[in-house]
Amino acid sequence: MDRLEYAMFRILRLFRKTPLNRILRAGASTHMFTDCFKDFDKVAAVRRIFGDKTTEVLSNLKVDFTLFSGYMYVDSSNGHLVVSSRYLKTGDKIDVYLDLIHELFHVKQFMEGRDLFDPRYSYVERPTEIEAYRYAVQEARRLGLTDKRICEYLKTEWINDRDFKFLANAVNVTCP
Ligand SMILES: [Zn+2]
Repeated sequence: MDRLEYAMFRILRLFRKTPLNRILRAGASTHMFTDCFKDFDKVAAVRRIFGDKTTEVLSNLKVDFTLFSGYMYVDSSNGHLVVSSRYLKTGDKIDVYLDLIHELFHVKQFMEGRDLFDPRYSYVERPTEIEAYRYAVQEARRLGLTDKRICEYLKTEWINDRDFKFLANAVNVTCP
């Protein structure tokens, strides 16, 4: 197994398969984070976000599954993580994992009372987004992802070319 395969192997173990299948079949619903994902409290990148409070934060975190398409975000009215059931089911597991790291970083920002949707900034210019992307990119590099692969991760259909270049530059990733 090379480094990336090992990382993948470790990541797949973080998804609680049977409960997750049951939860996803239920469609839109609210669940505890720890019922959907396991051992995130043992992931170094997560422990660096919450420190000693990691287990406590994760065991109190709620996940709202939505049938709407999209990826995931933190609901700033209640701090819940909102996840598209379809993305969780069909998304590339490395992308999903990096998104979870990104969103957990937002959970921390939310706990600090920061405005996750500060309208003074566009999406890619918002400081909370840049920080969360930088953190996810750092984890992607640790996993052994190349800049090319990280670019694929950063490029989503709802981000235009100019914003994509801005974001890649802001997180120090070289994209073609
Ligand atoms: Zn974000």
